[in-house]
Amino acid sequence: MAAVVILPDWEANQITQAQADNVKKMIDDIKSCSQSTVDGRMKPYLDAMTITGVFKQNEPDGDNDDSKTKNGQFLGYGNRTILAHYWFTPNFGQSIGYKPDKFRVLTLLHESYHAATEDWTESQAPNYAASIYDEIKCCLKQQGLDLE
Ligand SMILES: [Zn+2]
Repeated sequence: MAAVVILPDWEANQITQAQADNVKKMIDDIKSCSQSTVDGRMKPYLDAMTITGVFKQNEPDGDNDDSKTKNGQFLGYGNRTILAHYWFTPNFGQSIGYKPDKFRVLTLLHESYHAATEDWTESQAPNYAASIYDEIKCCLKQQGLDLE
């Protein structure tokens, strides 16, 4: 049996337990809204996503708002999601005029689409995220998310 050596090939830090708990709370809010509004159809997508890290400053490619999901970016694993450097800050989404919670929800939906479908192109993920977001945003507001 060969030893498995895990080498991150993105400029990212491993997600901390506190950060992971924070993200899990938002995913749980989305799942609970998915039950009441869209028959829970995005739950398997969210469950397919494994959030592993948070990008270092100015990664990837100078964009502190960008999150990524890719296959095989960490040796020995399937697909993994790295959250944007600004994810946990009030600056997240500011560059495009979104409240942080709105951009966080859109990002989770978008990255979960990549994780579940292994479609790494940007042809469907943005549409998927936008259409689900429209259906659940009223419910999310009732959960206390600050969306606009
Ligand atoms: Zn994408």
